Amino acid sequence: MNRISSLVRPNIAALTPYSTARDEYDGPIGIFLDANESPYDNGYNRYPDPHQAALKARIGEIKGIPVENLFLGNGSDEAIDLIFRIFCEPGKDNAVIMSPSYGMYGVAAAINDVAVRSFRLGADFKLDPEELLATCDGRTKVIFLCSPNNPSGNAFPKEKLLDICDRFPGIVVVDEAYVDFSEKGSLAKEAVERDNLIVLQTLSKARAMAGLRIGQAISNTGIIRLMSMVKYPYNLSRAAMEKAFEILEKPIDKEILTIINERKELYIILPRYPFVEKVFPSDANFLLVRVNDADRLYEYLLGKGIIVRNRSRVPGCAGCLRLTVGLPEENDALLTALDNYIL
Ligand code: PMP
Repeated sequence: MNRISSLVRPNIAALTPYSTARDEYDGPIGIFLDANESPYDNGYNRYPDPHQAALKARIGEIKGIPVENLFLGNGSDEAIDLIFRIFCEPGKDNAVIMSPSYGMYGVAAAINDVAVRSFRLGADFKLDPEELLATCDGRTKVIFLCSPNNPSGNAFPKEKLLDICDRFPGIVVVDEAYVDFSEKGSLAKEAVERDNLIVLQTLSKARAMAGLRIGQAISNTGIIRLMSMVKYPYNLSRAAMEKAFEILEKPIDKEILTIINERKELYIILPRYPFVEKVFPSDANFLLVRVNDADRLYEYLLGKGIIVRNRSRVPGCAGCLRLTVGLPEENDALLTALDNYIL
């Protein structure tokens, strides 16, 4: 754990976190005159549990991760922001981010005044650890990796990601937002045991709760303690936690399987269209597709009421649209629209 203390910003290491009324008393029901809440019960008049004990225990149980190794945030976007705030000295440190990848790493870096060193993925979005590590310098505190990667869709071999963790002296973040759609597996268990790995996951994708805004970070207890110290005290609402708890009871295996099967089918069918130049292999719930005129096809689909993501201006994604896999009938509607697209 010594490595972590040398990486944490001094102001964070010295922080005395806010102590909530519920930190000071979390005993049985009584007469609560401690938190300046309204006494009139409408289901939400009391603050939620700042430690999110019930939901954390349930998610920990589902994932086989001890609660001490689990952070819950307002989406995994909150965890991304916290990582910058905990480890990166504004105006001094930098973060290495692969390109193309999820845009929020760069935005959160900019908000925190942390320089970004961009590392371009190779042909077919391959990751070369040597080149990645050569992008780092003495002020690189964090490397952000995304596997399966958004927007390319490919997952990287576990050994490659762990090799980077072994060789990089700072923090390695592996964003596994789409891991439930991948056969390449998760590094969550490794994140518990290692001293510099943070795995990000979310309830927004396979778990179908994007509207509730709940993301997870999994890491060693030292890093999780730091994240819990720096977060807003009540970062998850009572409504979101209760609803998530309820929805988690519903099995999702069939839904995931349907999405994966539909993705596999689209991967075979899409290249048959003359305007489709390449469909990139995907381990996620979307496909990156290079077409002859991305803007024109995007506008055409929009006219048919089908909204896809135009990624053609993202470096490394020229000519590409990103298509999320929908319900079977939605994917059929997409294919019907493509059947009628005139070149
Ligand atoms: N990571 C990746 C790779 C994503 O694509 C997204 C959302 N599109 C997120 C994180 C954010 O997830 P959340 O909804 O948990 O904030």
